[in-house]
Amino acid sequence: MKIGIMGGTFDPIHMGHLLAAEAARDSHALDEIWFMPSHVPPHKRGAGASGQQRLDMTEAAIQDVQQYEMLDIEMELGGVSYTIDTMKELWNRYPEHDFYFIIGADMVNYLPKWEQIEELAARLTFIGVGRPGFQLHLDDLPDELQDKVLLAEMPLVDISSTAIRKRLAKGQSVRFMIPVAVHEYIVRSGLYGTKP
Ligand code: NAP
Repeated sequence: MKIGIMGGTFDPIHMGHLLAAEAARDSHALDEIWFMPSHVPPHKRGAGASGQQRLDMTEAAIQDVQQYEMLDIEMELGGVSYTIDTMKELWNRYPEHDFYFIIGADMVNYLPKWEQIEELAARLTFIGVGRPGFQLHLDDLPDELQDKVLLAEMPLVDISSTAIRKRLAKGQSVRFMIPVAVHEYIVRSGLYGTKP
């Protein structure tokens, strides 16, 4: 099968993540999307919610979609979640699948800085998801990456996990920015400064 991996901190998961995953699935005929919360992201300070809470929120967000699955492999592996370590494990466990790694199009030009990117790109295709009309500047990438990045278009949604956390802390509405089940989980758990 063609499997799209949607990796992220998901602190919390929001509609931008879901729309990006769906755009990648639809544009490139992926059979399934596996949502993969990172344990410790390589390029950020630690998450606000615990690993278990980020898994729970991700599960709540995707529970009704048949082609979406949750992948807790980075929690299982622990430590800093370098994509190369995760992919080596996935290639071992699922040699029958073709994997596509979904990233925000803005992240594409940052790919050369990823750990062991040459080894990663030799076996993995990336899907950069951007707004309609977004141009990928593949010429700026090293040769070995240029034909390893596909584009998928999604409606522009200016939502970020940081903005959602700030809005929640101030008691502002996040309705339609995150799934209802995720909002319920956040309030029930008193996350991000909400009052249960
Ligand atoms: P994140 O902030 O939780 O977001 C997940 C993905 O969704 C990102 O690619 C992000 O793109 C995209 N996204 C978020 N909001 C969006 C919106 N409104 N519209 C469209 N796209 C949106 O994830 P992250 O912490 O950056 O990590 C992404 C994955 O890359 C993780 O699996 C991480 O481990 C991996 N990574 C690996 C390395 C490495 O191996 N060295 C380095 C960096 C990242 P943007 O980033 O463009 O917002």
